[in-house]
Amino acid sequence: MKNEMCIEFSSLSQNESFARVAVGAFISQLDPTMEELTEIKTVVSEAVTNAIIHGYNNEPHHKIKVSCYIYDGEVEITIKDNGIGIVNVEEARQPLFTSKPELERSGMGFTIIENFMDAVEVLSVIGEGTTIHMRKQLVKNKMACK
Ligand code: ATP
Ligand code: MG
Repeated sequence: MKNEMCIEFSSLSQNESFARVAVGAFISQLDPTMEELTEIKTVVSEAVTNAIIHGYNNEPHHKIKVSCYIYDGEVEITIKDNGIGIVNVEEARQPLFTSKPELERSGMGFTIIENFMDAVEVLSVIGEGTTIHMRKQLVKNKMACK
């Protein structure tokens, strides 16, 4: 079974929970474990928060796009902003790297995303924005496919 959805919303912090709940509701049709559901909701929160506070510097009038595609128990999520972009993606993905220590960020968002997902791709162009593409195979469906 293939299914997909796409949502676009303003870069407001209250939309972090909207995005998290929307993706969680969409993937529920795959009957994920509680752990998988929590992990996927967490990565959506981390990436949307990054788009708001880093990509858009907390400016509320921009847009963030979240799309989700499911196929045979595999979940693919893309989170895109048209913000400032990342100067050095490799450095940004390192544990504890943050460009905003003054905001008491811990620099662990990307590390959490990488731990919870099977594959993570970050595409970023300075001045044009950042797209995070990630994939996770759900356990129950993995067994069902064998
Ligand atoms: P934490 O997530 O722990 O609160 P953080 O957001 O700084 O802290 P990461 O989520 O790992 O840590 O991101 C690392 C760095 O990558 C950020 O500090 C920022 O410089 C850059 N970054 C991440 N996402 C974006 C984005 N969408 N646009 C621009 N820069 C980004
Ligand atoms: Mg972060």
